Amino acid sequence: MASYSQKVIESVRAKNTNEPEFLQAVQEVLSTIEPLLTAEGKYEKHCILERIVEPERTIIFRVPWTDDQGRIQVNRGFRVEFNSAIGPYKGGLRFHPSVNLGILKFLGFEQVFKNSLTTLPMGGGKGGSDFDPKGKSDAEVMRFCQSFMTELQRHIGADTDVPAGDIGVGGREIGYLFGQYKRLRNEFTGVLTGKSLNWGGSLIRPEATGYGCVYFAQNMLATRGDNLEGKVCLVSGSGNVAQYTVEKLLQLGARPVTLSDSNGFIHDPDGITQDKLNWVMELKNVRRGRIAEYAEHFSTARYYEGQRPWNVPCDCAFPSATQNEINGQEARTLIRNGCRLVAEGANMPTDLEGIGVYLSSKILYGPAKAANAGGVATSGLEMSQNSQRLGWTREEVDAKLFNIMKNIHDNAFEHARYAADTTKDFTNYVVGANIAGFVKVADSMIDQGLV
Ligand code: NDP
Repeated sequence: MASYSQKVIESVRAKNTNEPEFLQAVQEVLSTIEPLLTAEGKYEKHCILERIVEPERTIIFRVPWTDDQGRIQVNRGFRVEFNSAIGPYKGGLRFHPSVNLGILKFLGFEQVFKNSLTTLPMGGGKGGSDFDPKGKSDAEVMRFCQSFMTELQRHIGADTDVPAGDIGVGGREIGYLFGQYKRLRNEFTGVLTGKSLNWGGSLIRPEATGYGCVYFAQNMLATRGDNLEGKVCLVSGSGNVAQYTVEKLLQLGARPVTLSDSNGFIHDPDGITQDKLNWVMELKNVRRGRIAEYAEHFSTARYYEGQRPWNVPCDCAFPSATQNEINGQEARTLIRNGCRLVAEGANMPTDLEGIGVYLSSKILYGPAKAANAGGVATSGLEMSQNSQRLGWTREEVDAKLFNIMKNIHDNAFEHARYAADTTKDFTNYVVGANIAGFVKVADSMIDQGLV
């Protein structure tokens, strides 16, 4: 007979046929919390799974704007308010041509458990648009953001739903979005996170996801009496998460050797130094160029068009670009070439087959919702500072981030005991993180009745 979680997975599959990423995320969480569901009958009795896979609210809207040639353009905007059992909806906005409802539902669903793991009072949500900021002028990006916020402002608020950045939404976009919200609502509140320091942002927020992911890796290595010193590390992506992952790896004595974007990857066997990283930050954040230029500028590096970095031999891998960027075959290549740790900076970068490869190889594997939770955790710290109308020092925020990542690690480590394959030599952090994140949300839903 099909188990409770299998029945719900089947019903999600039947109802969401055009949303493969959402189904993948649901399958990953529900199938791993089975031991808890069997031990605790209350979740089935209260139909928690049937409720938790359905967003509380989904908003889809038209975003008309005018380009620099005076032509009218129309994009689609979304906000998925997934679960508010433990706090206001919280999660990023993604601007990328691949954005659709299924992608945002997968991201929102993941966000619910991730936010729960941070121990901060934040529900889960996600939003964005199929707008592509690449190649657009600042004025076009501003007009788009203003139109997007003109509709979104009806649905969000500091105590209701607090969006942040994600792919394609960085400091520039958050600025334009915040300006329009303030103008329309005539209020200065912490309605968005990832703000600039001059107007309510938090120190360390830009660094938080990358730094936090490396802290998580540090904690995993410590369980084996090891550290990052001298480790050769692959990093994918070259945006916010990738940049600060490289920076923290350098501070801890590791040797990052790759970066990528959607066109290809660079391999610098001599290592990406802080000076080279500063050059990359200028390239990506100011000039908005392509990573191929790295190999034109630094003769130590080579550029591989149309490829991903996973066949480069390494000790550790930090996928930090996008979903499903490592498949089963690539995961096997990583392991064969010596990789013994994967910490996910991106959301769901490894497909289900790839995750199976990590687990059966018994490497240290930090799944996204635990390893990259430092970003949203620091967004939570930004919300606290906004509510207090105070700003904390860099050291204070970094110390809090460090402790939060340690707590997330320890919590996932502890709940990994539910996994049949966890032993004194191996920790199944997938099961650990999913169960630890689920329990708090599910118990809160039970407390709050059928709403
Ligand atoms: P950015 O927009 O700053 O950077 C994204 C990077 O990934 C770019 O290098 C981009 O290359 C590359 N990329 C995007 N789409 C693809 C694709 N389809 N194939 C290959 N490469 C791609 O985003 P972030 O660094 O903020 O986000 C990266 C990942 O981290 C995402 O999965 C995001 O959800 C996740 N994340 C981000 C958090 C944050 O705080 N920013 C928090 C938690 C998770 P290109 O320039 O060619 O598009």
